Amino acid sequence: MLIRLRALHFSKAPLFSLSEEDIQAHGHHVTCPVCETDLPPEIFARIGRHYSKSQLEICQCKECEAIYYLNPPGESQVDFYYQNLWNKTKGESLDSEVRVPTKVRRKISQMLGDLKLPKDIRILEVGCGTGSMLAGLIEDGYTNIYGLEQSKFRSKVSEKRFPRRIFSEGYASHKPRKSYDLIFCNHVLEHLYRPCDYIKWVNENLSDDGVAIICVPNQEWEQVPNQLFLLPHLHSMSSLSLSKLAELSDLSVRFWMRSDRCDEICIVCFRGEGKPEWSNSPFAELRDYPSIALTSQKERFKSMWSATNEKRGSSVVVNWANANRTIANAVQRWNGYTVWHRFWRHVFSFLAFRQRLAIRYWYPLNRGQRLINRLISSLGREVTDYNYLEYQITGKSSDGVPEISFNENAVVFLK
Ligand SMILES: [Zn+2]
Repeated sequence: MLIRLRALHFSKAPLFSLSEEDIQAHGHHVTCPVCETDLPPEIFARIGRHYSKSQLEICQCKECEAIYYLNPPGESQVDFYYQNLWNKTKGESLDSEVRVPTKVRRKISQMLGDLKLPKDIRILEVGCGTGSMLAGLIEDGYTNIYGLEQSKFRSKVSEKRFPRRIFSEGYASHKPRKSYDLIFCNHVLEHLYRPCDYIKWVNENLSDDGVAIICVPNQEWEQVPNQLFLLPHLHSMSSLSLSKLAELSDLSVRFWMRSDRCDEICIVCFRGEGKPEWSNSPFAELRDYPSIALTSQKERFKSMWSATNEKRGSSVVVNWANANRTIANAVQRWNGYTVWHRFWRHVFSFLAFRQRLAIRYWYPLNRGQRLINRLISSLGREVTDYNYLEYQITGKSSDGVPEISFNENAVVFLK
């Protein structure tokens, strides 16, 4: 089976271009980059032309459930992507005058409040971006804050906001003179090559009763196409993945249950047991962490491909920012997503594609929604949270692993 994906021309996603030679030169993960098991992972899909000898392979760890590229693009390729494509599409340029942003985010400071940590602890944010989380901490009275940011543009912005508190480097090259009481990263771990190396670095650089916080997208909420085309994410992790990750350090883990985003997992790592006040707290252990997946990952992938197989001709997969639609696995939607957003999305789809799109809802529809849905639905059309992709089944791979290829304007461009 060969599934050909074609991105429609108005996709805004920047291209990540890889040639077959590039892929040939990629290294392979010998062990799981999250839990370091040497159990061979399950391969879910290969990305590349069916005639290519080398393809990107997407797999899932049998020990910790993490989904990752078995042979990810090299670090220089990913750096190039961030510096030249990602930043530019976001309008980030080092030449322009840096404006200090005013955005303030309080998630981490809320967590610290739940943990009842003192306000003068030494705090480091890894991947602080333009500093909105640090600003939230400052506003809530935390004084001893630092940020690490690899992007030259974003570290320049943060530096302007918090002079002499920002290190313009990645975590691996950061050698703190004094250990930190709190190290946190918010939606950064999934971009790192080897999360297992990160947790070891954290373990080494935390003070004796230090705490680490990690927030990542929740695998159970991520859509199958997003997991297939992870870039620039290199990993998709579950609550089990994060628990197994922490086992590589001498840190214990609890899950924070008050996240304002339903599609993420936040963990608190700490040394030993009993340091923070856990009783009657908004924290859970792995066994109490609520599972929200409708089906296992394997079933999700299987159902995606079998659903695809049953269709004749092509299907359209459409991305709408923040629209959580999935193929064969619609567990989620954004709570704040309003009927009007959906309505205009439908109108736009119709105008843009000149065709009707079927949208499946997993929650009770009101009358207006039902009517809209009926009007625009047709067989073989689906809307999801991925880019404007069209795929077509044209063949079959020898071992039954789906093969996917992209043309221009896809997120990953294989040539
Ligand atoms: Zn693993």
